[in-house]
Amino acid sequence: MKKIKKILVANRGEIALRIMRTAREMGIGTVAIYSEADRGALHVRFADEAVCVGPPPSSASYLQAEKIITICKNLKVDAIHPGYGFLSENADFARKVEAAGLIFIGPSAQAIEIMGSKLGAKAAVAAYDIPMVPGTDHAIDDIAIAKEKAAAIGYPILIKASAGGGGKGMRVVEGPEELVEQMDRAISEAISAFGDGAVFIEKFITSPKHIEIQVLGDQHGNIIHLFERECSIQRRHQKVIEEAPSAVLTPEIREAMGKAAVGVARACNYYGAGTVEFIVDDQLNFFFLEMNTRLQVEHPVTEQITGVDLVKQQIKIAQGEVLEIQQEDLKIKGHAMEVRVYAEDPANNFLPNVGLLKTYRRPQGPGVRVDDGFEEGMEIPIYYDSMIAKLITYANTREEAIQRMVRAIDEYQITGIETTLAFCKFVMQHDVFRSGNFNTKFIEQYFKPEMLTVQDANDELIGAAFAVKLFKEMAARPAEAVSVQQQSNWKKR
Ligand code: ADP
Repeated sequence: MKKIKKILVANRGEIALRIMRTAREMGIGTVAIYSEADRGALHVRFADEAVCVGPPPSSASYLQAEKIITICKNLKVDAIHPGYGFLSENADFARKVEAAGLIFIGPSAQAIEIMGSKLGAKAAVAAYDIPMVPGTDHAIDDIAIAKEKAAAIGYPILIKASAGGGGKGMRVVEGPEELVEQMDRAISEAISAFGDGAVFIEKFITSPKHIEIQVLGDQHGNIIHLFERECSIQRRHQKVIEEAPSAVLTPEIREAMGKAAVGVARACNYYGAGTVEFIVDDQLNFFFLEMNTRLQVEHPVTEQITGVDLVKQQIKIAQGEVLEIQQEDLKIKGHAMEVRVYAEDPANNFLPNVGLLKTYRRPQGPGVRVDDGFEEGMEIPIYYDSMIAKLITYANTREEAIQRMVRAIDEYQITGIETTLAFCKFVMQHDVFRSGNFNTKFIEQYFKPEMLTVQDANDELIGAAFAVKLFKEMAARPAEAVSVQQQSNWKKR
């Protein structure tokens, strides 16, 4: 076992800070890397040491594998934590890190490789009795074969890029007449986005839920799961709101999904923290989608309901320690909700809306966690992902976690840019979301940009009604003054 004394975090923003905080708690030194656009960033200030890796574009900075490894050697770093995105699922990088005598805080390069290809993953888990979406298990480039397979599976079907990720490279085909055109598009999209034109066909599950299972494995063959996260509220096939546990899973299905997830991890001798994603139909049948071989954006909701610090576990596993948690030790306690605060305009098709954070005040109080990487007065760079923060609430019940989220969103003050906060409040207050009975079509089915303006107007009406009530009360009891503070708080909402 090699004790890690210094970690370089090959990432930026909220996740770099989140990782460094745990490292510091463990008495481990931290090194930040940053691009020229991130000179004043919080992760740079937080770290014990920081090194500039290049100009703003990711390819010239955060993706500079060789440069990052050289920095590690110069600064006597023992281990690299890649966070999510950037180099986190790059098997070549993991291999180079190990070859340089450093520890990669993540799974083996081989596991990354297997799960990095959706077709590779399907092949690897075939022997483990994992439920799969009906579809082809090979790449298809022959249109005649595609037609035959699609007809056998039954429309609608989904064409997917084997190397796809981040919701890219997917095309829904409603009927045979669209197949040729959509195949062509999917293949050229896959080549330009991933440099790999392999596509395959899957049954398109209409209105599924996206539910994923967190797993942890050590280097000695022990694998456990830490229950599920519900991530169905998505735009462009990408998550915006997550929660744990799911409002609809029965203990039996939870156990079956947990077992399947451990099976998937076992299929690639997985170690580290990983996530096995499933789609779930309206009958609660679940199907394996893919495995993400890294820490997920939404990992905090699992941390809240299990009390496990996932980054700490990643570090201990990377040091070669035996998992200190057993499956029987884990219980779900309470409910956690997470909303992603993107610098995006929900009223304008969720288009990125970066700029200067003129006002930035985080919500506080019981059961509120904010994982972010910005401060008031900072500029949000255009070069990277537009997520500026994650707001997480935790309470005894789902209802309380939702109420707490509404309160926290109201408290969160951001001006200068548009964010997804108002949209997330809309979701929190929606009956369908509150019922727990929603799926990945939620935004399409229930959200129209105008609703946010209506919501603002409603809030103002409520505020006005409250003001009238206050006025009447004051008139009735003229001796009692109502503070200006109280009134202006209501106006602000
Ligand atoms: P990516 O790697 O790009 O994230 P995934 O395979 O994880 O792709 O799928 C992302 C999202 O796309 C899922 O959460 C789900 O909403 C939708 N999706 C994927 N496969 C299917 C399918 N067969 N039927 C319906 N929706 C799907």
